[in-house]
Amino acid sequence: MAMEALRSLAALIDHFHETARWAGTLALLEWDERTGMPSGGAEQRAQQISDLSVLIHRRRVDRCVIDWLDELQEAESRGSLRDAIPAGSLSRIREDHEKAVRLPESLVGALAKATTMGQRSWGEAKERKDCTSFLPVLAEIVELKKEEADLRRVEGMSRYGALLDLFEEGADAEQLGKLFYRLQSYWSGKIDHLAEATKERPRRWSTVEVGIERQRALNHWIANHIGFDFQRGRLDETSHPFCTTLGPHDHRILTRYDRNDWTSGFYSTLHEAGHGIYEQGLATRWHGLPAGSATSLGIHESLSRFWENVIGRSEGFWRGVFPEMRDWLPPEFQSANPGDLALEVNRVEPSCIRVEADETTYNLHIALRMELESKLIEGSLRVEDLPAAWNEAYARYLGVTPAHDGEGVLQDIHWSAGLFGYFPTYALGNLIAAQWLEAMESSLGPMEKILEKQEFGLLVEWFRNHVFPKGRCLTSSQLVEEVTGKPIQPFAWNGYLEKKWAEPLKSFRG
Ligand SMILES: [Zn+2]
Repeated sequence: MAMEALRSLAALIDHFHETARWAGTLALLEWDERTGMPSGGAEQRAQQISDLSVLIHRRRVDRCVIDWLDELQEAESRGSLRDAIPAGSLSRIREDHEKAVRLPESLVGALAKATTMGQRSWGEAKERKDCTSFLPVLAEIVELKKEEADLRRVEGMSRYGALLDLFEEGADAEQLGKLFYRLQSYWSGKIDHLAEATKERPRRWSTVEVGIERQRALNHWIANHIGFDFQRGRLDETSHPFCTTLGPHDHRILTRYDRNDWTSGFYSTLHEAGHGIYEQGLATRWHGLPAGSATSLGIHESLSRFWENVIGRSEGFWRGVFPEMRDWLPPEFQSANPGDLALEVNRVEPSCIRVEADETTYNLHIALRMELESKLIEGSLRVEDLPAAWNEAYARYLGVTPAHDGEGVLQDIHWSAGLFGYFPTYALGNLIAAQWLEAMESSLGPMEKILEKQEFGLLVEWFRNHVFPKGRCLTSSQLVEEVTGKPIQPFAWNGYLEKKWAEPLKSFRG
């Protein structure tokens, strides 16, 4: 490789590593904001986050990136860049740059500030279970996001599509809407039937009171047991669980504990540990560059929901871990058996809360959010009408009505953080997780056997070999197709659930 190109490549990589360090600092400010910052610090923190976001944006739109790319892509086309940087990296960086330059600094700063304050306002309103004070704050965020969408969208793309593209590059909002509609029609009749079957089995074990200290120890143990590396990560507590990366060797996962339902924290931890395992498996050498970044949010959610549900709710998992896990739980669990626990964590119950929804009804929570948020962004639903529209959608999709805003429109943090277009990635994650399972079983054999032996390392290794190394050099649909031989589609998911529900569905005439 020519000396000049070599220098440009080194400069480009340095530039991105430095930007990633700034982004890690921003993530630390946000982590602190959501784990223990006193409320008095909110105003100053919003300003800090806004200032730093603007500085990071400036680095992303820096003209020098284009100069390096011009030279490097020329060298790449001559074939003289081979092995120096993973294929696909440079074109990805150029696309990112083109997208970033469309946003003025003033909007980046305004969005960062509005969404930091928005999360605070949301938290207070949620505490009061009343959205009145939050709605004007949300209205301002929606206006800023519309502005952002107008700047981002290219020909043929809707406003909402432009925001979806931030999390799932290349996804088509309209096609995704149709896919969710098909899923909804396929499962909606069966759900009532499965819910009936569930009613015959009252809760027995999830309602046993488990002290918070005990839960902390249990959750630390299970996260470590499935492969989250505590040398390079931490588990903390917050009101809305999440995972964040502060640096290539520092990954934070956060969960929450409920004394009266220990399974809630347990599944949150499995979910966030799934995200953490993915982040820890990315190429550290390319941290902050496409090859060292997660493919998309949909792929991220496929990892989290794989560990939370496909693994964590399977009977094999309970048979494998429970003999050891029993010791972390109160003495009455000595008489519990893994089969009963597996049944109990697989109840099908249409409910108001997404994060506590079972796998089967979960996608309906997503489909209705996608419907509402796309209307907000396209302008056919006003923020002031959102609470009523929310309750109407829950009645229509799931046949339930929230008792108050806290378990209704205020339950999720996303919109207060400006995350419009994010929700669909959860349902995509479900579909992709089932495709991973199918692909894994064809190379590793039946999952139940692996889980009974608690060979979680085999699964992490499979991801390390097939999914993690690609980073963002491929889109999610390219990655899924390359690894599983099939595009992202609902068949593996439907098959997975049908296998799980084979017994109760036998008597179903839908
Ligand atoms: Zn997640």
